[in-house]
Amino acid sequence: MSSRSHLLNDRTVEHYRRSVTEGVGRVAEKIAGADRPFTGVTPSQLAPTVSGIDLEAPLGDPAAALDELENVYLRDAVYFHHPRYLAHLNCPVVIPAVLGEAVISAVNSSLDTWDQSAGGTLIERHLIKWTAERIGLGTAADGIFTSGGTQSNLQALLLARDEACRLVEKNSATPLRKPEILPRLRILTSECSHFSIEKSATLLGLGPEAVISVPCDEDRRMRTSALGAELERCEREDLVVMAVVATAGTTDFGSIDPLPGIADLCERAGTWMHVDAAYGCGLLVSRRRHLLDGIERADSVTVDYHKSFFQPVSSSAVLVRDQAALRHVTYHADYLNPARMAENNIPNQVDKSIQTTRRFDALKLWLTLRIMGAAGVGELFDEVVDRAADAWRLLREDPRFEVVTRPQLSTLVFRYLPPAPAGRSLTDEVNLHARHALSASGEAVVASTVVDGRHYLKFTLLNPETSLGDIATVLDLIAEHAGRYLTERPGAPGTRHPDPEPVHPRAS
Ligand SMILES: *Cc1c(COP(=O)(O)O)cnc(C)c1O
Repeated sequence: MSSRSHLLNDRTVEHYRRSVTEGVGRVAEKIAGADRPFTGVTPSQLAPTVSGIDLEAPLGDPAAALDELENVYLRDAVYFHHPRYLAHLNCPVVIPAVLGEAVISAVNSSLDTWDQSAGGTLIERHLIKWTAERIGLGTAADGIFTSGGTQSNLQALLLARDEACRLVEKNSATPLRKPEILPRLRILTSECSHFSIEKSATLLGLGPEAVISVPCDEDRRMRTSALGAELERCEREDLVVMAVVATAGTTDFGSIDPLPGIADLCERAGTWMHVDAAYGCGLLVSRRRHLLDGIERADSVTVDYHKSFFQPVSSSAVLVRDQAALRHVTYHADYLNPARMAENNIPNQVDKSIQTTRRFDALKLWLTLRIMGAAGVGELFDEVVDRAADAWRLLREDPRFEVVTRPQLSTLVFRYLPPAPAGRSLTDEVNLHARHALSASGEAVVASTVVDGRHYLKFTLLNPETSLGDIATVLDLIAEHAGRYLTERPGAPGTRHPDPEPVHPRAS
């Protein structure tokens, strides 16, 4: 086949149709046949297969490349749709959104300017408006789709930083320059917040001391009394709190910071309130919307549709209460988005984004809402939150395990407790071992995390197909792996010493 025949155009649509249909067919087969979420392959087993592919020797033919892909990727991929995939914040995806993906890459709009996207820009804007309304941000709200919660948080904090600098400059008796203000800026966020807050601070030119960690209560929610005290301390020390970041759904515990109390404190202090709802945003369409009460008072909000709206990666947005704040990322280029276009009301989304060329991820959410509706998405999310509540009861009543908090969303942090008293390090070891052994078997995939310096296991439930029976099975598997480790580990009572003294010491 000639190179030209691979270009998608009016003469190649049959080739396009056949290629994509063949690819869809292979994936459909894999999904139908996956009897476990993972094969347990290790990096060292798989690496030679991938690095052995000679990229200078193309196969030419889609079917041959798909055959090869079976070995290098599809066979050992981690399948999030499987009900015993319980590890990270990856959701099974809804078919309307997968359909959207196919349209996105074939038409290949770029959402930076109107002249590269047309209706795409308007669809994205309509979805931003819809999300802002669900949050309750008011009529001046705006926002933009991003690649993920990390980028949404970064952009929100960039806007907060520049607003804080603007206000400090305005209120200063003597002229000040930004580099003089930056070292005084602080971000207050709970000890359970996402690491992208710290990363953002670094990227924004702030020092490592810029992020102040506010303690949480036993339910892993920010203590508002501690936040109040920190705000006062910063004021006394002439520091500028550029933002308070509340988390609506912490990554580990799914805990939701007390948004109304935090909003009161921010209002009193005149501080930017950012709500990181990367995980909890699914509540916007659920019957538990009340759990987000107070979010409507935020200055900016992060949502990850690719976490709790069942969207494929990537799909996220950052929303702001006041569209004027977005001017801090507005730059004009003569070749792309000259200022006269904005003056003529030509909508160029690049004026609101830290990206330039940008995917039309919004289309996936659009088709999802148009086909199944927001209530349909909310129903799925409510199901996993219900399941987490049931699983919490299961864990609480099971003497083999200890569970940290009662979930508000859909994660469970717990650990196996050895039946006989065991030291701290043995309990840690046995849990790490169980996680590893489970993943190596491919029977289930669970996550691990550290709480107060100790190793725990974590379920992140995002699949309505995961039954309580699946969860009970996985708990049994964990207990089995852990129990076997306790009896068979080197040095366990009743086993031989791993490195026995030589029976016949050699004469020296
Ligand atoms: C996952 C997560 C993020 C990061 O989002 P990405 O989409 O992975 O970049 C930020 N904050 C919270 C609370 C998260 O759970």
